[in-house]
Amino acid sequence: MPSIFTKIINGEIPCYKIAEDDHFFAFLDINPNVKGHTLCIPKKEIDKITDLDEETYLGLMGFSRKIAKAMEAAIDCKRVGITVIGLEVPHAHVHLIPLDQMKDATFQHKVSLKAQEFEAIAAQIRSKL
Ligand code: 5GP
Repeated sequence: MPSIFTKIINGEIPCYKIAEDDHFFAFLDINPNVKGHTLCIPKKEIDKITDLDEETYLGLMGFSRKIAKAMEAAIDCKRVGITVIGLEVPHAHVHLIPLDQMKDATFQHKVSLKAQEFEAIAAQIRSKL
């Protein structure tokens, strides 16, 4: 069965999209640590990031870096943290999280955003790509 992220790539589940190219896709995390929390995924569905072939792994990190730089330009934060967890969704993904304090990186504190706020922050990030 396709992962929830493959369904997002295929447009079967909606998302707040940031960017895509032939191999990678970026969109806002639906349960963000902080506003702007973004996920970058390979279109190829592989569970663990360490199981990606080297080209896809390096491509994903390069794509994530490009999105992180746009986030740093769009969002007032100290820096964008880059984290890999993968305990919930078995489709490799990189978390990009705008950070001001350590608790923003812990996944213990979440913010709830309205659809309009998701749309606005996604547009802000896209405008810096
Ligand atoms: P992890 O697998 O790294 O532990 O966490 C998966 C992340 O995916 C979580 O931060 C969760 O909020 C996010 N997530 C899970 N399902 C969806 C979804 O349907 N849409 C979006 N945009 N994010 C999701």
